[in-house]
Amino acid sequence: MAMVSDFHHPYEPYDIQLELMRCVYTLLDSGKKLAVLESPTGTGKTLSLICSAVTWLRDNKAEFVAGAAGTRGAVTGRASDSGCDSDSDDPAWVTDAHAASVLESKLHGIGDYESVLAKLKKNSSAHALTFATAQRHSHARRQRKIAHLDVSTDDDSVFLPQDYVSDSEDTSVSAPDRIDQIRNEVSALLAGLDQESRASQVDQLQLFNPVKIFFASRTHSQLNQFASQLSLPHFASSFEKYNIPMERVKYLPLASRKQLCINPSVTKLNSVDAINDACLDLLKNSKSKDANRDANKCGCPFYKSASSNVNSGLLRSFQDQTFVDIHDIEDIADIGSSLNVCPYYASRSAILAAEIITLPYQYLLSQTTRESLSIDLTDSIVIIDEAHNLLDTINSIHSSEISLNDLKKCYGGLQIYFGKFRTKLSANNRVSLIKLMKLVDSLIRFIVKNFKKPGERIDSNFLSSDSNADTLNVHKINSFIKKSKIAFKVDSYNQSILQEQSVSSSSQPIIFKVSSFISCLSNPANEGQFFFEKGHTIKYMLLEPSKPFESILEKARCVILAGGTMQPISEILDNLSSNIPREKIEVFSCNHVIPDKNLETFIVKDSRFEFTFEKRDNPKLIEDLFDFYYTLSQSVPRNGGIVGFFPSYQYLEFVMKSWKKSAHFCKLNSNRAIFYESKSDSDPFHDYSTHVAQGKSAILFAVVGGKLSEGINFQDNLCRAVVMTGLPFPNVFSGELLIKKNHIENKILNNGGSKQVANKAVKDFYENICMKAVNQSIGRAIRHANDYALIYLLDKRYGNANINSKLSHWVKSRIKPQSSINDIMNSTKKFFFQH
Ligand code: SF4
Repeated sequence: MAMVSDFHHPYEPYDIQLELMRCVYTLLDSGKKLAVLESPTGTGKTLSLICSAVTWLRDNKAEFVAGAAGTRGAVTGRASDSGCDSDSDDPAWVTDAHAASVLESKLHGIGDYESVLAKLKKNSSAHALTFATAQRHSHARRQRKIAHLDVSTDDDSVFLPQDYVSDSEDTSVSAPDRIDQIRNEVSALLAGLDQESRASQVDQLQLFNPVKIFFASRTHSQLNQFASQLSLPHFASSFEKYNIPMERVKYLPLASRKQLCINPSVTKLNSVDAINDACLDLLKNSKSKDANRDANKCGCPFYKSASSNVNSGLLRSFQDQTFVDIHDIEDIADIGSSLNVCPYYASRSAILAAEIITLPYQYLLSQTTRESLSIDLTDSIVIIDEAHNLLDTINSIHSSEISLNDLKKCYGGLQIYFGKFRTKLSANNRVSLIKLMKLVDSLIRFIVKNFKKPGERIDSNFLSSDSNADTLNVHKINSFIKKSKIAFKVDSYNQSILQEQSVSSSSQPIIFKVSSFISCLSNPANEGQFFFEKGHTIKYMLLEPSKPFESILEKARCVILAGGTMQPISEILDNLSSNIPREKIEVFSCNHVIPDKNLETFIVKDSRFEFTFEKRDNPKLIEDLFDFYYTLSQSVPRNGGIVGFFPSYQYLEFVMKSWKKSAHFCKLNSNRAIFYESKSDSDPFHDYSTHVAQGKSAILFAVVGGKLSEGINFQDNLCRAVVMTGLPFPNVFSGELLIKKNHIENKILNNGGSKQVANKAVKDFYENICMKAVNQSIGRAIRHANDYALIYLLDKRYGNANINSKLSHWVKSRIKPQSSINDIMNSTKKFFFQH
């Protein structure tokens, strides 16, 4: 494709945004397989990704259509037309003319569909505000109402596997009149259209949509933020040359049942697992033979509409409403409500026609989930945002743990349930439930007998030594749990007892935790390991995150890993890209959008500051630390907040206690109000930010990896100076770290590597965890183009080349030569004098 100059960015892009957009466009165009892109927070990363990727997508689509126009059979769908027609007796001009006419009619379908969407948009835009507002109010009302619904225990049969009957649907929460009116208008408009021709219009969308973009992020709010950014640019139509000047972005946000379910009898449940199981249980009922005869066994009425033929009017309406505009997850739930169709299942029918699909990490990173949702990544562009924690996320999605306490509680819950329902259960269920209880009991006895210390490996057949458990078939028990939804039944029953006793229930039902652990036990991966963790816990962990990622890389055309702080990038490349040739990988690190003069980094190399485990409690160091913070608090303008990060809650508490014992705490507190995080208290951010907003001088001490080190913006006066006290190395005695360390060592030694190489790899592994956390925490200080702040790395070890190389590029490039406290404080005053 030609060099692109217009990425349809809605604003005048900064140079660094242009660089990032050019990089994304070029890497997509040149067939790179994997890209790691670092663009600091506040630089408009998401919008730049959207503009470049969608511009490429549309250009690619235009080329595809042009290619189709010049290639017989590419769009006719006839095998004989797709280049295998050498046997055809027709002269070339005849088949060319045929292909041209087929293409024209298919493009006509695209144009017609855009007209349908335009009409819908016109029709609904007059009501857009009232519609959205009414829906939101309806949703809020529904939520309030749901919160007060009780689980009735009058009919015990609802807690029995197979025979579960849902609470009757709460018809009193139907949408308000206004929504009904709009729904009728939409239905009237749709009814006037020929369903068959509309089905074919949507098929054309799929045909001319050779590449999709899948965008995954960590949180619901990040995905909704993507939707709001996507609505800003206006992209050129891929079909401009064919008289279709307007092409809407076909955007679909996929979300979980917890976010999309509209059945009040299910949404009242308090955990994701319970909602999933309750829904599946209802669907099983809806498929049973009794469903047609017995109103109580009708399953979910919203599913019935969503599961009918894919070309049905309702599903089409859902898809059309979805594509009329850029909708966020709540909008999708509202569209489902207004059409009385399950938005969770109806969304799936729109996947094929969508151009851009957003989805939570779990949906993308688990192959089983992708398959169950019919998400096909073949030839797609996969963008994973906030990818700095990708390795941890892959590991945690494929990991599970269970403690002795959890197991005991679970066993107690199963006993109560069994005592209540033993005579009502079918023979099969009774036997299976007894086996499940036996398995839980065996796990309890195994931990009691064998737990010695965290980090001890456990063989995956560890239960075979238990005479009680060796006859148990874990696969069968796992299958019983899955098919009978027994976890949901037991949890529902136990919740109902707690409600009767007015005891608040746990938001994470133990029985689901046990069930997920048994699932790992029944099918452990070759790259997984069971081991003991502190708290008398057995943990299962995946040791090679590359395995689940391989299937994504294999299928996708290109995978882009993007984040504000991706350093150390070597960690990601070493773990995820071993099978990809280097020339197929792109690494790009963007500068910050702020001018150089707005950020300076100081490494305090003073030999007094070395916060190693052995030295950090030294009273002299604690005194020097106070001196540093006190001097700094006098050098930073009073209205500018200071944020000091500490490596752990324990160390921060120790320092605060030490300062309180002397007069130091009072002295600093009288200069600047001190706020600090503690494990037990609610986070102090609210009070700190209120203090700063009132122009009062304040200092906040936070913990790396704590409540304030991710997700909170310390923009402007909230943070004019950020200090990283020491290096936040992870706890090397945790079971998880010990197991990973052994795995890294063994892998190198087993492949013929030396002990020296293995030691270096382990050292790198610890340093990477530490520096990722440092980059995340200090990256909170600068949040937009006009922001300014100073960064202090308070430990002489930050001067080591290895550590230093793992700092974010935009932090490292601004390191100042000053290293003595005096020089640093003088530069500090000078910096703030200039701002
Ligand atoms: S089918 Fe849809 S609406 Fe019905 S229970 Fe399941 S998720 Fe909820």
